[in-house]
Amino acid sequence: MEYTQQPKVSTPLPNRGGAGGEAKQIAILGSTGSIGTQALQVIAEHPDRFEARVLTANNRWELLVEQARTFKPAAVVIANDTYYPAVRDALADLPIAVYAGAEALCQVVEGDEIDIVLTAMVGFAGLPPTIAAIRAGKPIALANKETMVVAGELINGLCRQYQVPILPVDSEHSAIFQSIMGEVSPIEKIILTASGGPFRTFTREQLETVTPAMALKHPNWDMGAKITIDSASMMNKGFEVIEAKWLFGVEPDRIQVVVHPQSVVHSAVQFADGAVKAQLGVPDMRVPIQLAFSFPERLQSTFDRLDWYAMHDLTFERPDTDRFRCLALAYESLRQGGNMPCIVNAANEIVNRAFLDGRCRFLEMPDIIEQTMQRTPFIKTPSYEDYLATDAEARRIAAGLILPSK
Ligand code: NAD
Ligand code: MG
Repeated sequence: MEYTQQPKVSTPLPNRGGAGGEAKQIAILGSTGSIGTQALQVIAEHPDRFEARVLTANNRWELLVEQARTFKPAAVVIANDTYYPAVRDALADLPIAVYAGAEALCQVVEGDEIDIVLTAMVGFAGLPPTIAAIRAGKPIALANKETMVVAGELINGLCRQYQVPILPVDSEHSAIFQSIMGEVSPIEKIILTASGGPFRTFTREQLETVTPAMALKHPNWDMGAKITIDSASMMNKGFEVIEAKWLFGVEPDRIQVVVHPQSVVHSAVQFADGAVKAQLGVPDMRVPIQLAFSFPERLQSTFDRLDWYAMHDLTFERPDTDRFRCLALAYESLRQGGNMPCIVNAANEIVNRAFLDGRCRFLEMPDIIEQTMQRTPFIKTPSYEDYLATDAEARRIAAGLILPSK
C-alpha cells in the first residue's frame, strides 16, 4: 500500500527558506479545528511576530493542504495516514515535508526550531504529543484540556523536570492566569464561570428528549463538536475544574463554578483579603490564544471590544448538578484521584460520540460514565502506561454499556 512509504520524521526540519528572524516558530497540533484555525488568524495578524512552523490534522486533509499553501510551514502531519498520498501530492511543488501517523505527531514537535507548541487536538489523543513536546523542552500553549484531565499530575511532574511552562488557552484558565499575573500571595478561591450551555433553563423532562442538533447550538461560543456537547452536558466545566486544579494548584473545594450566561466575565480569583480580580472581554478565543503566544507581552488586536453601555445585566447563578450530573461526576473523580479522571474522560469520549451519532440519549451520558467509573479497575498512582491501559479499558466498558438498539 502506498501509504506505508511515508518518510520518517527527520530533525532538524527542512529549512523553510526566507523564514527566521525574530518571529516565534509555532507548531499547531490540530490546525484544522476551531482553535487551530483561530490560531492561524492570530499568526496571520502578526506575521512579524509569529510563524506557523508545523501544521497537523486528522482527517481534513484538504484544509490542511490549503493552510500549508498559505502559511508555508516546514512540515505538516496528517494523523490519519490513509490521506498521506493525497497531502504529499498536493504539496509536491513546495518545500514542505509531509508526514503521517500518530507517531509523527510526537516526533515533529521535537524540532529544534520550534519555540512553542499549541495543543489544539481534541481528546485523549492529545496526551502523547504533549508529553513529547514537554520532553523536548517546548513551552506548551494548552488548549487540549483532556491532557490535564487525564494526567495532570504526570504532566506537572514532567513540566517541573524539563522546566517547561504551560500557557493556558482555555478562556477561563487564561482569565485566572491573567488575574494572578503580578500577584505574590496565594489564591483563596477560584471563581470558574460557565455559560450554562444551550440547556441551562431546561427541566429534566425537557432534557430527556434533546437532540444533538439542539446541543450543537451553543449560545456564546462557536467550537468543535466534542467540546460543544461537553458544554451542553456541563462535563466541559467539570473538566475545567480538574484543569484548574493542576494548572493553579488549587484544591477542588476552593474552585467554585458560577453560571454566568453572558460569558463576559471569563473567570475570577479571590485573594486572602477578600479582593476579587477577574478578566472580562467579548467571547473570542483569539484573545487567549494570542496571549499564550505573546506572553508576557500583550499585542495590538483588531478584535471586538466590550461595549459597557450595552451590558445591562450580567447575571450569576448556582449550577444545578441534579440536571447536569456530569459536573458532579467530574468533581467526584477528582476527589477519588488516581486514574479516575482518566476513566471519566474515556467514558465521556464514548458517550459524547454516541450522543452525536444518536446512539445514546442526553441523560444517559452521566449514567454510563458513572457505571464506567464503578467498573474500571482503580489505580491510585498510575504511570503513563497505566493511563494508556485505563483509557482503552474504560472505552471498552463504556461502549459495552451503550444499548445497541439505540
Ligand atoms: P475541533 O474538533 O474543532 O478540532 C480538533 C483538531 O484536532 C482538528 O484539527 C483535528 O484534525 C485534530 N484531531 C482530532 N482528533 C485527532 C487525532 N486523533 N489525531 C490527530 N489530530 C486530531 O476541536 P476544538 O474545538 O478546536 O478543540 C480543540 C481542543 O481545544 C479541545 O481539547 C477543546 O477542549 C479545547 N478547547 C476548545 C475551545 C474552543 O473554543 N473550540 C475552547 C477551549 C478549549
Ligand atoms: Mg473553557
